[in-house]
Amino acid sequence: MNTRIHKGTALVTGASSGIGAIYADRLARSGYDLILVARRADKLHALARRLTDDTGRSVETLAADLTQPADLARVEAVLKTDASITLLVNNAGIGATAPLLQSDVADMERMIAINVSAPTRLAYAVVPGFVARGSGTIINIASIVAVAPELLNGVYGGSKAFLLALSQSLHHELADKGIRVQAVLPGATATDFWDVAGTPIAHLPTGIVMPAQAMVDAALAGLAQGELVTIPSLPDIADWNAFDQARKALGPVLSLSVPAPRYGVTES
Ligand code: NAP
Repeated sequence: MNTRIHKGTALVTGASSGIGAIYADRLARSGYDLILVARRADKLHALARRLTDDTGRSVETLAADLTQPADLARVEAVLKTDASITLLVNNAGIGATAPLLQSDVADMERMIAINVSAPTRLAYAVVPGFVARGSGTIINIASIVAVAPELLNGVYGGSKAFLLALSQSLHHELADKGIRVQAVLPGATATDFWDVAGTPIAHLPTGIVMPAQAMVDAALAGLAQGELVTIPSLPDIADWNAFDQARKALGPVLSLSVPAPRYGVTES
């Protein structure tokens, strides 16, 4: 139990299972009060009871389907009005493993609603208060498919690439206003995600699957170390830094007044 430290309130989406439930556990134990969001109220209540008993923290639940505008608006309203909130964990998400030809576009649109639209609206809801208070943290749970979109369904990869780019942009805009942003890019993690996505986790090689507890603990260590992008599996951070520097090195030549010579376009 740790009741002396108080770090404010963390709102965690997708806290009813998997990665989000472990974030809730770790954050309560480290001194946060919690607001837990997901659709399955029974699971949220059970987790809230356990964490309150174990840590003495205040743990509220907010049952909401983040694909439903009215439910999403209720969560946005809390983020806009509760000045005790110091941390938003945009974790709720669903995946897919089937390629385009085997996927239903309506399912893909639903995935975009939860993986892209919801975290975007929640970030827009919380940031003005963070700026006014001069501090706050946003953790966006992306995925390694943000930089390796060929691995799984392309819309899933695109949704996570969006979260990575949004995180980089928010960091660029808001770091000097006291706001921390972290994009977490987990590899395969042992949760219910894989059943929902359509490929049982037992079908994956065990050597690429990380226990969810270890993934979250590594991600929180990355946050404490000040990382903007955390890839829990990556052995050498120099590899990410080289990748990111190569991206940034393109900057000066990405927008010029003339096409590149290889296109053979003469001035018109
Ligand atoms: P999970 O156990 O299936 O958890 C998904 C969470 O999202 C659940 O709490 C679920 O709660 C919530 N959720 C789903 N649809 C929702 C909706 N419409 N409205 C509100 N909440 C909703 O899977 P997980 O692995 O912990 O996934 C968490 C995040 O990690 C996701 O963003 C996922 O993309 C990312 N991720 C996972 C892996 C992996 O291998 N597991 C790898 C990289 C990234 P309810 O069903 O109760 O609503």
